[in-house]
Amino acid sequence: MVAEYISGIKAAWDVAKALKVATDAIDDAHIKLQMAELISALADAKLEAAENAETIAKLQQEVAKKESLFFENGMYYQLSENQQKDGPFCQKCYDSEGLLMRTYEGKAFIPAKEEWGIGQICRKCESVHG
Ligand SMILES: [Zn+2]
Repeated sequence: MVAEYISGIKAAWDVAKALKVATDAIDDAHIKLQMAELISALADAKLEAAENAETIAKLQQEVAKKESLFFENGMYYQLSENQQKDGPFCQKCYDSEGLLMRTYEGKAFIPAKEEWGIGQICRKCESVHG
């Protein structure tokens, strides 16, 4: 679908360039102006199509990333393409900011509980999981 409209614009661009070569020989200001407008409109469409294709590719990557995420024991994990489990990632950072922040196993003071806890600690927000 994306590639189809890009190849359609490219085909139109090629035809317009061939037409321009043919019409350059015609001494008619109106035709020259219309050809210039056609080439300009197609150049804008080509640029916009390329930008849209880039945006769609980024969004597809984000969807794939979200689809590979799963929640287990209070933390997120991700399945890689070869079905390897990657993680854990901080639940708080992902839920609030969409960030996949790795955690490390360690000991940290938990202010809410006013005690030290051992578990997976987020490198960014320092939440203790597990
Ligand atoms: Zn975090």
